[in-house]
Amino acid sequence: MTDELKISPPLYLIGKKIHCWRCSARMPVVTLLAPSVEDMGEEVCILSNVRYLPNELTSYLQKRVPTYKLKHSKTEGEKYYANTCPECGVLSGDFFLHSEPGAPFFPEDEDEEEAKLLYITEVPLSTPITIRASYSMGLGDVILKSAKRI
Ligand SMILES: [Zn+2]
Repeated sequence: MTDELKISPPLYLIGKKIHCWRCSARMPVVTLLAPSVEDMGEEVCILSNVRYLPNELTSYLQKRVPTYKLKHSKTEGEKYYANTCPECGVLSGDFFLHSEPGAPFFPEDEDEEEAKLLYITEVPLSTPITIRASYSMGLGDVILKSAKRI
């Protein structure tokens, strides 16, 4: 399930390097972290299953992480922005990246060491934007505090 999220700056890109599950190549995986989402109060939202991004953001992401692409997912039955392997092109689905404790974007919350393995960088954004995506809350503030700023 996705929602239209009205997001005000700042917006962050978070990521890390993992090994492709199919060919073992090193690959970057990324997602967006939004501390200021309308109707979410103080919660820091971690976005997943991103279905729609405004153009200013897609051009930024294309330059920064060209392997983060709009792909068709069999699991989701729809297109969404997914992390793909630079070597073999296979998709590492958001379910795998977000849904299990210990997954790249689901650091075990009692352990800030896992959040520290993520990097974080601010996305240049001057005005509020709308993104269509799923979101999770709760671990966003740990990531915002502990991830390595680049
Ligand atoms: Zn691969």
